[in-house]
Amino acid sequence: MARIVTACIVTGKPIDSGIEIDDASFSLLPPFTGKVFCPYCQTQHEWSRDTALLADDEKAKS
Ligand SMILES: [Zn+2]
Repeated sequence: MARIVTACIVTGKPIDSGIEIDDASFSLLPPFTGKVFCPYCQTQHEWSRDTALLADDEKAKS
């Protein structure tokens, strides 16, 4: 499983959405817009599949 991470539009820093998904499911997601709370700006940013990245949780792999 990987975590969906999106970049803060203001600071450019990665925001962990807290959503876990596998690569196959991510690629099958329809276009959408979600909201994630940005800890850097203390506000919500919109994000979409196009702006999101998958961060593999390397620690979870054996
Ligand atoms: Zn932000």
